[in-house]
Order: sequence, then C-alpha cells, then structure tokens
Amino acid sequence: MKAAVLHEVNKPLVIEDVSVPNPGPREVLIRTRVAGLCHSDLHFMEGLYPHPLPAVLGHESAGVVEKVGSDVTYVKPGDHVVTCLSVFCGTCDNCTTGRTVLCTDTTVKMLPGASNRLSWARSEKLNQFLNLSSFAEQMLVHENAIVKIRKDMPLELAALIGCGVITGYGAVVNTAKVTAGETVAVIGCGGVGMAAINGAAIAGAGRIIAIDTNPVKLQLATKLGATDVVDPRNGDVVQQVRELTSGGVQHSFEVLGRKETAEQAFAMLAAGGTATIVGMIPFGQKIELHGFDFLRERKIQGSSMGSNHFRVDMPRLVEFYMRGKLHLEDWISAKLKLSEINEGFAAMKAGKTVRSVIMFDA
Ligand SMILES: [Zn+2]
Ligand SMILES: [Zn+2]
Repeated sequence: MKAAVLHEVNKPLVIEDVSVPNPGPREVLIRTRVAGLCHSDLHFMEGLYPHPLPAVLGHESAGVVEKVGSDVTYVKPGDHVVTCLSVFCGTCDNCTTGRTVLCTDTTVKMLPGASNRLSWARSEKLNQFLNLSSFAEQMLVHENAIVKIRKDMPLELAALIGCGVITGYGAVVNTAKVTAGETVAVIGCGGVGMAAINGAAIAGAGRIIAIDTNPVKLQLATKLGATDVVDPRNGDVVQQVRELTSGGVQHSFEVLGRKETAEQAFAMLAAGGTATIVGMIPFGQKIELHGFDFLRERKIQGSSMGSNHFRVDMPRLVEFYMRGKLHLEDWISAKLKLSEINEGFAAMKAGKTVRSVIMFDA
C-alpha cells in the first residue's frame, strides 16, 4: 500500500510502498478512507516536537474495518470507524477513574518508536505515529483506538471528529465544562478553534467571542455560533475582550499553541475565570503569568484531546451533525489525493485552510 513518509524534518513527505502485518489478537486492520491534515502533524514535520523518523504521520481519520484480530469483539469487517490517538487500556488508574486520555499503559498506548506495525523494503525501522499513522491506505491499530459510527455518516466529515473536532469541542464541554449562559473567548479559528466555538454554542454559552486575524475565518465563526469577533490587528486583544464583556470572560481557550496568546488567554479572564490551553506550545517554551491575577481565583489548565471519552463523545458528535447542530461541512477547505499532501500542508502553513482532507478512494 501507499503511505506518505516523513524522512527528515523540514523536508516534503515522500509517497512510499509500505506494508502492515496481519492483526494481532486485539488489533484491527482498517482501510483508510479519509485522513485530515492537522496542525499537530505540521509541528512534527517542522521538528517543534520530537519523533523518531522515518515515520508515517497522520492521526485524524475514518475508514472501514477490513480484518480483526482473534480477540476483537467490538467491531467486525465492514464497520465504519473513526480513529482516535487517545487509545486506552481500560484498566490503569486513569482509565478506571474516567480519564482515558491520560492512560498510562504503554503496551496499549505505545510510546513513539515502540510499535512494529509498519514495514517496508528498507532495513531501517518505519515508525507508526501516535499509534495510528493515517497518511496510509491501511492502518493497523489497537481495537481501543477506534469508535464505531453509523454508516449514513459521511466519512470525510467523520474523520474531522477524530482529532480537530473532538479536541475543540471536548476542551469546552469536557475540560472546561462550560455551562449555559457563560462567556467564552476562543483565540484562533482554525479547525480546532471552530470546533470550540461550535461546542460552546451547543453547550449554550452566552457570549462567544472569536479571535483571529483572518476575516474569512471570523465570518465562518459567526455561522458556527460566535456572537462577537475580535481582530487582533484592531488593537490589543485583551483590551478588546475586556471592553466587549465589561471586565473579562469566564472561559478562554487558546488554540494556537503560542506563548503570547496563552498569556493573553489568562489576562482576558474575569475574576474566577478559567483559561484552557488547547494548542501545542513548542516543546521547552515557558509562559509568563501575572501572579496577582491568581488572587481573584483565575485558573489556567491544559486540555489533551478535549479530555475525551471518544467512544461516547464521537457518536454524540455524529448525532449533533445529523441534527444540524454541528456544522462539519464548513470545516473542509480542500479535498486532496495522497500525492497532493505536501501542497495541503503548504496551504495550511499559509493559514489558508480550516481543514484539508485526503480522500483515499479518489
Ligand atoms: Zn490533530
Ligand atoms: Zn489505561
């Protein structure tokens, strides 16, 4: 099968012939139908986060089950599934207390470089990425890395739920637990930011402030539920948000993964408010906060993959889409072939896209 391989950071991906073995007892072989291009892939391509190379990237995908291992009962061939990098064991302390995204069992949630699910004609090891590697025509994954979905759900939209949507929506609903009427600001309106805005609308947030420098994205944000938009080019962002809300928001979400915007997220809080950092701040970078702000019970927290319980959350998101509450069509900026993947990442880098997806049967 074909797969896009990252050989070196800051070099284009190369399409190579790759193979996967038969599924082990708890593994599932999936025919990849759609894979989204996520900013996190780009972070690894640019070396902002380390990963053993060469590797097949990609972690936002949907497909059809092709084969299952001898102990798998959850799915059968022909089932439609969405993948999630939040693979869980179900038995460690974090899993049994409901925090499956923080699973500590490294035999299931394998560390980078640990799995042997990909091979090719060369002698060097080809690494699987985040226990998935979606930029490939087939994926071999643990059964607890997938969720079954209804077959009338379009797979290109389902794929988006696998990372971008669950990350943004989950940050609002699961991590921050936004309740009806609360004020929300979202810094950065790419795919994850849009999902946070849409999630805030589903949660019944009162005011939802979208912050971005791209007017097209801000316009889309209003369609997804933003009640106000702020363009940082019109002056200090914190000031603008404070003026709009007479003193600050109850919840802010930083989705860009930058020091400056993470600090702004904290600074724009009302007393008692909570800043949730969703973006991946480059490894090793520190952020600075005004210590006085803690006296008024302002809080800051991280959110990993939207603190998801994806086996529950993702079918719910499919239902929200079916009922017209989750506007997934608006996410997709371009549909690409696997061979066009580098162009897709170039467009992402230029800030032109909300989400590009690879269609494997195109
Ligand atoms: Zn992602
Ligand atoms: Zn676990």
